[in-house]
Parts: sequence; C-alpha cells; structure tokens
Amino acid sequence: MSAETPAKKELAAIKGTKDVLPGEVEIWQAAEAAIKRLVELYGYHELRAPVIEPTELFEKGTGETSDVVTKEMYTFTDKGGRSITLRPEYTPSMARAILEHRLDLRPEPMRYYFIGPMFRYDKPQKGRYRQFHQLDIEVFNEKDPAVDAEIIEMADALLQTLGVDGTETLVNSVGCRACRPAYSRDLRLHAEQVRDKLCSDCQRKIAVNPLRIFDCKVDGCRDQAARFPKITEYLCAECREHFGQVLSYLDLYKITYRVEPNLVRGLDYYTKTTFEIVSGKLGAQNALLGGGRYDDMMKDFGGPDICGNGFALGMERLISILNIEPDKKKILYIAHLGEPGKRKALELARHFRRNGVECLVEFGTKGFKAQFGRANKLGAAWVLIVGEDEIRKGLFQLKDMAAGTQTEGTAADLLKIIQDKKI
Ligand code: AMP
Repeated sequence: MSAETPAKKELAAIKGTKDVLPGEVEIWQAAEAAIKRLVELYGYHELRAPVIEPTELFEKGTGETSDVVTKEMYTFTDKGGRSITLRPEYTPSMARAILEHRLDLRPEPMRYYFIGPMFRYDKPQKGRYRQFHQLDIEVFNEKDPAVDAEIIEMADALLQTLGVDGTETLVNSVGCRACRPAYSRDLRLHAEQVRDKLCSDCQRKIAVNPLRIFDCKVDGCRDQAARFPKITEYLCAECREHFGQVLSYLDLYKITYRVEPNLVRGLDYYTKTTFEIVSGKLGAQNALLGGGRYDDMMKDFGGPDICGNGFALGMERLISILNIEPDKKKILYIAHLGEPGKRKALELARHFRRNGVECLVEFGTKGFKAQFGRANKLGAAWVLIVGEDEIRKGLFQLKDMAAGTQTEGTAADLLKIIQDKKI
C-alpha cells in the first residue's frame, strides 16, 4: 500500500497476496484465453472444484512428508469442527472429483484443466506468493509413455503460443513403488554419512523421506544432494523402459530437454516421469511449470486403479515474463447536456451497447468541453454529442477522435459508421 493511501494499514491486502488491477488484468485475460484455446485443442475440459477441501485430501494426496503439507497449508477448523484446507494445489481435487462423480465411467477421455487460486504459507518473495494462481492440467487413465511426452509437448506449445522463449525443459524418472524403496534405502545411508552437513530439516527428512532432501534450497544441502546416488541408476526394467519411451517421443517432437536426475519435485505422489520447465528470466524461483506422472493416487484414495499425469504452471510467473499488448478497446463516449440530453444519452447508450459497441456515459462531468476533455483522457475512439438541437432533429454529431472528423446522422447511421470502423 502506498504512503498516500487513506485506508488504514490493518486493511491492507494480506502479505503474499496481491490485487490484479485493470491495466494488468487484461494481460491475464489474454493469457487465459490463449491457454483455454490451446488446451481445448488437445481435448481438455475445464473442471472447477471448490477452493476449500478436507485437510485429509492433501495429507493423503499431496503427501504427508512434502513441505507443502508439513509447513505450508492454510488449515482451519470450521464451525462444524471439521479440518478444512484452502487448496495448496489442484491435483488431489481433480482426483477426488473424478471418484466422487465417477467420471471414470463416462465414455469421454479424462482430460481436465483449471485456472485458479492456490494457497501456500511460504515466505513471500519475487515469484513466490501465499495466494498464487495455477493453470492445472491433468489426464487420467493413460498408462502409455506417449501421454507423458504429449503433455510436455503441450506445455512447450503453450509457451510458444504465448511468445515465451529461452526456457529449458528438465525431465527425470523417480521410479515406482517397486524400485524406489531400494533407492530410498541407499539414499538414507548416504545422507546419514553427511548428516552434520545437512540443515536440521533435512536431518529430519533422512528418516521420514530422504527424497525430500532434494527439495531443500539451502546451499550446503544442495551441495551434498548433488553427490547422492542418482535415482535413474535404480529404476526397475519397467520404469527404465517407460522413461526411454518418453524420451524417444520427446525426440519425435524435436523437443530439446535435459535429463536431471535430481528432479524429484516437491510432492510425494510422483511415479516414473517428472518434468519441469524453467526460465532464466524468473530469478531464484525459476520453475515456470512442473509436473509428472502419478500412478497410485486414485488407488490410495480407495478408488479404482487409474493412473494420472499432469502439470501446473504458475500464472504469476508466466505473466511476469509475458510480452502481450492487449487489444486497445474502442470506446464511444456519449457527451450530453441537461436532463433531456442525459435521458437521450441513456437511451442511445443502451442502443449502441446492444449492438456491440462499448459506451461510456458519465454523470458527474458537466458541459461539453469538460466531457470532451474526459473522452480525450480516456482515449475514447469516438464522442457522440447529444445536445438540445440534436435531440430536436433526431440527428447526432459523431466525432472520430483520431481523424478529428465529425459526421452528422441518425443513431442508425452512426452505428453503421462505428461498426464499419470496428472491423
Ligand atoms: P508445484 O505445484 O509446486 O509443482 O508448482 C507448480 C508451479 O506453480 C511452479 O512451477 C510455479 O510456477 C507455481 N508456484 C508454486 N508455488 C508458488 C508460489 N508460492 N507462488 C507463485 N507460484 C508458485
């Protein structure tokens, strides 16, 4: 909040949240529209779930050892005594909705998307907020490695459509429940040997889930983690085969990627493929989007054996590196004089709006000169003049502000001029 703001400090927006104001919101709208157009080409449909969910959904879904669940959830007890959480991510909500509505019994493919707010109580900094927005993409019941590659290709296409360049695609496989235990065991042994060099949180993670050490941002822990055994060396035949296929499909798409064996991503549910697209333009929080496969979530929720695959893209991070010039709106400003002029202006505005013209009639600005001044300031494309003479004749003056020309005509004549110019 700026120094001159008259409102009380206690009424300022919550730390880590932000308002998206007119001026910036048009960029969000343009990005959202482009995203929707693109993902719908891949057969995705929007699925809207509630912002609040039972806390257990994330404990079970996102995972009890993840930082998101252990440290970052906005959790409260509601008046009915139930533990509620503001969703920190969307994947568990998608899985829950599928099971609850048995979407798996419908014939259409289970491909869903959503754009909306998520909540994590983390330390706010550039690119990291407490309320942030994600595009979430999920596809269910596709075991084939081709779908892992297809969602990476879709993410790539999305960034290209939006004109985002200079990104890097990182891929990895984190194995499955068959091969990961052996890896975790070895990882635990290695981490145990360097316990003193790890931060206290990572020391705790050794016993709970040593894989989570890779999520730590502390330099010392990162140095150690870089020397830990690589999960890619522990993959079972099935996971190795799957990963090889994913890479071969990425090659088919001619997508440049780097295999990054430490990419385990912060959530507990991933199996086999994980990936991230990072951008050097984002600063420390360089992950633009990330995701992967999760074959066990539905089963763990007590549902059928349906695998999942998806990614989430951070909208704030995306918007911060976009170069979109939203289309400039063409506004018709209706200048009026006196009560009869005002009444006519109201009627005319209704007529023009119903014919698709954006109109503005203001009531506090008196006099034509002042209203012209306002129209100029607002960058109106046209001004329609509604004075006594005009009302009597039923002919109005339309000024084209860019050309400086003025035309007289009936409302219908002038509408035609505006419509012809709008195209
Ligand atoms: P995750 O759900 O942790 O896999 O994150 C997916 C994407 O969401 C990241 O690559 C970021 O772009 C974005 N993201 C995650 N956490 C935040 C946050 N606290 N603030 C802003 N964006 C975030």
